[in-house]
Amino acid sequence: MSAEQQKKPFALKGLGVSPGIVIGKVYLFDPLDSQISFYKLKKPSSISAEIQRFKDALKESEKQLLQIQENLKEASIKEPLYIIDVHILILKDKKFINRTIKYIRRLGINAEWAVRLTLDHYKEIFEGVDDAYIRDRISDVQYIAQRILRNLAGEKRQVVLEIGGEVIVIAHDLSPADTAQMKMDKVIGFATDTGGRTSHTAIVSRAMELPAVAGLGNITQLVKTGDEIIVDGISGMVIVNPYPDMIKRYEEKRIHYCAIDEEYLQYANLPAVTRDNYHVKIGSNIEFVEEIPSAIAHGAEHIGLYRTEFIYINRHDLPSEDDHVDNYLQVVKARGLNWSTIRTFDLGGDKITPDEKHVKELNPQMGLRAIRFCLKETELFKTQLRAIWRVSAAGNVKILFPMISGVEEIREAKKMMEEARRELLEQDVEIASRMEIGVMIEVPAAVEIADKLAREVDFFSIGTNDLTQYALAIDRANERLSYLYEPLHPAILRLIKRVTDAAHEANIPVAMCGEMAGDPLCAMVLLGLELDELSMNHLAIPRIKRIIRESTLEESKLVLKKVLKFNTSREVRNYVQNYMMERFPEEFQNEEDQLIIYNNKKIPPEEIFR
Ligand code: PEP
Ligand code: MG
Repeated sequence: MSAEQQKKPFALKGLGVSPGIVIGKVYLFDPLDSQISFYKLKKPSSISAEIQRFKDALKESEKQLLQIQENLKEASIKEPLYIIDVHILILKDKKFINRTIKYIRRLGINAEWAVRLTLDHYKEIFEGVDDAYIRDRISDVQYIAQRILRNLAGEKRQVVLEIGGEVIVIAHDLSPADTAQMKMDKVIGFATDTGGRTSHTAIVSRAMELPAVAGLGNITQLVKTGDEIIVDGISGMVIVNPYPDMIKRYEEKRIHYCAIDEEYLQYANLPAVTRDNYHVKIGSNIEFVEEIPSAIAHGAEHIGLYRTEFIYINRHDLPSEDDHVDNYLQVVKARGLNWSTIRTFDLGGDKITPDEKHVKELNPQMGLRAIRFCLKETELFKTQLRAIWRVSAAGNVKILFPMISGVEEIREAKKMMEEARRELLEQDVEIASRMEIGVMIEVPAAVEIADKLAREVDFFSIGTNDLTQYALAIDRANERLSYLYEPLHPAILRLIKRVTDAAHEANIPVAMCGEMAGDPLCAMVLLGLELDELSMNHLAIPRIKRIIRESTLEESKLVLKKVLKFNTSREVRNYVQNYMMERFPEEFQNEEDQLIIYNNKKIPPEEIFR
């Protein structure tokens, strides 16, 4: 390729929401707006024909959604089914239909224009809603409007079906139906302007095991169909118009990733025992029950963190006690797990907020979140506590309370747990005689009083994602500060050490369930800190097990001793990186890939992508 032909490469950093690496051509998903024509009907007599055209498009849309549902069922992909149900409901909504017909009739406009006006009307209503989660649900109405418009445009086949070949779809956002359909069309990955781990695209792409990066801001404005692109769903990097050496490097990385994945699976079902016999229990973090089979296949011995707030996703109403029970039973009864740790809702903050009355907070990360929210919304909390007790009879369940910052909070939570227990016993409901109680250690205050908290509970689970955020005063969701967000910061290592020391002093086990637990680079340090359990994204389990099995506790303690002496995060990271690369060359040979070769210079992603 000549220099003129090579378009200027650029890279964007988003959120890796579905792991894996893909290299291919861009297909820019056009929401069809540009292809829609809006016009006034020439004669009043055309009105009934236009209404009929609209009704036909509704029918066609429903038929397509039902067909997609069928296909998904056949492929045993459950997660998007519910979302598609919601879309069918919107499609049949009388108000939506009647309003559109009214516009056609009263204004004498074509169906496309009328659908657009109806959508604008709904947008206005949703924009007025305070609650961000509910406000975002306008996207469901948008998806439906787009589908109707597509059918009005006479496109019997979906746009995506016409792409042909293998492509990476770039979109502002994608409906679950669109995403699901693309699987059958050899789409190999996604990248979107909006969304995070909880977005529809993320949920569906993970279920389909297609790499995806979300939250890229304005990628749809920066790329064109046919552009060459690399999407790295592990790191969240997207490189557009890459140089050949970048493609080569990512191709190697992709092959390496797949090979390692295969090779590492042999470690999945082995215990994480060091050569000198120190045993670490390995669990999986889950957000959806659908993840459990894959978690077990990757070697999860238990569920160390079930983020139950995800139950609220894609719901327009509050789940009932029975809804919770049905959901938790799928976790608790899963075969092959030693126990399931159900974390009570971590609602609020930057996460999901179910409460329509919920006030927009200036500083949500420090706001009414997690246990604080639950202790205020006692009815919602009680419903969950009763449900957890109810499933305790069906398997080994532990309960975990998030974001505890003081002894009174855990006492209050335990009091409510006890109330729920008594109520159920009075109602002759069968429950376990006891349930282990844990607190998440994710606020620095909890570290300070770890000795006191240890007297209140059966175990600790360290949430390094939040502990790092609160200890270093860095919003974990603020990408502009990501270069400072460092779990290997000397302060964080000291905090973790204080927690493990306090727990062991009190004779209770201590787990870690933050992302750090699944980072192979940190495994030796965490071993040295003598964590009893590590719970992680299930894809990381085989790697972590392998490192632990090939290490000794003695060696890890020496590494820890060394790193605790360093003054800066950079010194710690450099030392750990070099140590691990030397010690586990196969695992970390591509650690260099953290650096992108750009114009023959190695530049860390933060610098290119800032
Ligand atoms: C954490 O904070 O480390 C954690 C595991 O909880 P979450 O990421 O759900 O806040
Ligand atoms: Mg947390």
